[in-house]
Amino acid sequence: SSLRMTITRTRIPDNDSALKSFCLSIESLFAKTSPFFEDGVDLRVGIFGGTFNPPHLGHLRLAEEVAPLFGLSRVIFVPSHTPPHKSALHVAAPEHRLEMTCRACEDNALFDVSDMEIAAKGLSYTVKTLEVFAGRKDCEPFFILGTDSLREIGTWKDSERLFSLAHFTVVTRPGTNFRAAWAGLPAQTRAQFHEAGESLVHASSTRVECAAVCGLDISSTRIRALVREGQSVRYLVTEPVRSYMIDKKLYRND
Ligand code: ATP
Repeated sequence: SSLRMTITRTRIPDNDSALKSFCLSIESLFAKTSPFFEDGVDLRVGIFGGTFNPPHLGHLRLAEEVAPLFGLSRVIFVPSHTPPHKSALHVAAPEHRLEMTCRACEDNALFDVSDMEIAAKGLSYTVKTLEVFAGRKDCEPFFILGTDSLREIGTWKDSERLFSLAHFTVVTRPGTNFRAAWAGLPAQTRAQFHEAGESLVHASSTRVECAAVCGLDISSTRIRALVREGQSVRYLVTEPVRSYMIDKKLYRND
């Protein structure tokens, strides 16, 4: 599994398609044979999509807390290439965000990073990503998102279909509330669920659940503003992320 992770985290030059397809085939070989994907193992995997512009301690802490709550054997961070719903103006290049996400996750054996959306280029759609995981028999995907993202999900591509592809694990951002975010979804989407205890169960039997985590009131927007103003971002991002931002002079002139 560590070799597979190294491959996942190694960036391959865009123009080297032969090397890229070789690495992808090695990766899929390992994905099939790694202990995570043994036959018959009920593998619960967290899929954590985001812009990670930059990744911060709010992201890391929520993933750390969600994993044991839902018995996840790992959490895969999936930085988007081009987020359809964010202005491209202040978004650092995909390769910088991928590198920062790898650095943020490097000391946590539970965390992994996938470049699947960045390697695919163009607009990144969660539905496409979840289809990849939903297509595996040995994997039970849990898509992790904040209440702010849940509120907007009606505007995402194929939003109706999204909920049939994975369980949704919703974490509350400080100042927001799960029920209010849920009420913001289109009525026809909500009509496909029924309540069962704390969960909302979809017609396809996947669940939407709210995870009680210790919310850290940190956003990438705030971090970019601090960098722009020449102020400290220490203790909001990990040190390897902070030094990368300084080295590459990211967000200074945003
Ligand atoms: P920005 O400020 O640029 O919009 P962000 O801090 O929201 O960025 P994203 O990369 O867009 O970070 O977030 C990825 C996912 O993580 C989203 O689903 C978002 O709701 C969730 N998230 C981000 N920060 C937090 C936080 N502090 N608490 C809970 N969820 C969060």
